[in-house]
Amino acid sequence: CGIVGYVGQRPALDVVLGGLRRLEYRGYDSTGVALVMGDRIAVSKKVGKLANLDKELAERPLPQSSTGIGHTRWATHGPPSDRNAHPHVSDANRVAVVHNGIIENFAELRAELEADGYTFTSETDTETVTHLVHRELLGDATDVSDAVRRVCRRLEGAFTLVVADGADPDRVVGARRNSPLVAGRGDGENFLASDVSAFIEYTRDAVELGQDQVVTITRDGIDVTDFDGRPATVSEYHVDWDA
Ligand code: GLU
Repeated sequence: CGIVGYVGQRPALDVVLGGLRRLEYRGYDSTGVALVMGDRIAVSKKVGKLANLDKELAERPLPQSSTGIGHTRWATHGPPSDRNAHPHVSDANRVAVVHNGIIENFAELRAELEADGYTFTSETDTETVTHLVHRELLGDATDVSDAVRRVCRRLEGAFTLVVADGADPDRVVGARRNSPLVAGRGDGENFLASDVSAFIEYTRDAVELGQDQVVTITRDGIDVTDFDGRPATVSEYHVDWDA
């Protein structure tokens, strides 16, 4: 229901949790965060309110990182539970995915992945994306942006996706179809969110993503393409209302 991604110099956990808090009013049943460690993903997720995740993080703290993603879930496939909460993480803690929306063709994708040896740990439609990105990274994809583009070409339905590669600490990738995604342009830091209100305390310079686009944020830039990797034109605007 709410999505946040961050690459910069601040502690990513603080930025991501703050963003999720700003999106809380939309309603949700579970929350979670993933941080990029450079060799793996560190993840924490909990059913229930953000306060449950705060408590979990106090008891089992995550290592510091300046790259991270977060999610508040409104369950559509699989009941609210710790396991079904996002982010969903692939084998060897390589890839983390958060998703708003519904992957309509998830059942056939899941069957294909299971036949290929992937084990699922949740009942969500989203987890198919996690394993698909992982498989592309081990295959022909040049990086996680390329992997996400390859996967998006196979997805049907409505999705805002934000993806992190545990081995690639300077990059977070987003994608959208029939579901909102906006990037925030900072100075030495950049943001992704399902709504500008998530990052408005850090920047009011926003980049609206168009239909079927993939966005890569690093500390220094925001790069947007279509699902085939062609550069895309985006509209930039300044948020001058109180979000
Ligand atoms: N379909 C996904 C799930 O049930 C995402 C739900 C959402 O938009 O939060 O996990």
